[in-house]
Amino acid sequence: MRPYILAEANWKHIHDHPIELAILPWGATEAHNYHLPYATDVIEADAIAAESARLAWEQGAKVMVLPTIPFGVNTGQTDILLDINLYPSTQKAILSDIIEVLNRQGIHKLLILNSHGGNDFKTMLRELGVQYPKMFLTTCSWFNTLDKSTYFDEPKGDHADEMETSLLLHLRPDLVLPLDEAGDGAAKKWKVQALREGWAWAERKWSQVTADTGIGNPKAATAEKGKRYFEDVTQKISGLLVELAKLDMTELYE
Ligand SMILES: [Zn+2]
Repeated sequence: MRPYILAEANWKHIHDHPIELAILPWGATEAHNYHLPYATDVIEADAIAAESARLAWEQGAKVMVLPTIPFGVNTGQTDILLDINLYPSTQKAILSDIIEVLNRQGIHKLLILNSHGGNDFKTMLRELGVQYPKMFLTTCSWFNTLDKSTYFDEPKGDHADEMETSLLLHLRPDLVLPLDEAGDGAAKKWKVQALREGWAWAERKWSQVTADTGIGNPKAATAEKGKRYFEDVTQKISGLLVELAKLDMTELYE
């Protein structure tokens, strides 16, 4: 039993070990090019949360990883078979129920560890923060924690790309098809300049942007790259967990 993973912990243990920080990993279930499993974002969320929590636990941080939510916002992929969409309003309802439990039971710090680009919890946390003023609510997307260009030849992809393929080759190579069966992840660009440059936003109609559902060429992916990136991501996130767990909520600013 890993004592910082709720799904493995028992009540005997939970009963005598106070928890400072709950961690809620949140993934998605969606196509990832031809070669990666639908649970790619869930596998990444599970592994990154568990390893980051292990590192934090070893430094004395009282953290607890809740089970990963397996469905995310896939509103741009309505025509991609078995991409399971949760609306943001549904996510907020789930989050609200979880926060209500934590708040009632005196676990006043929560980190949502996001694993999917379509999920966006900031506006929800603004609302829920008003409803639960004792809670300290934070969110972090692990894929934004490091500069990908120092790890990967093609860092510009953002879905089933070299980074995600390398991670899966490290974490679950048994679920990755040979890379010669993967599409090239070629993606069309917006016609509108501001959208192309990223300073205006609109949702992409995924199936019109990419033929294989991937964005970013996965061909240069290796398990070694994935291992190095995984170790550095989890090291960095464990630092956040330690800081959050120790944080005095009456002294947030300096
Ligand atoms: Zn993904």
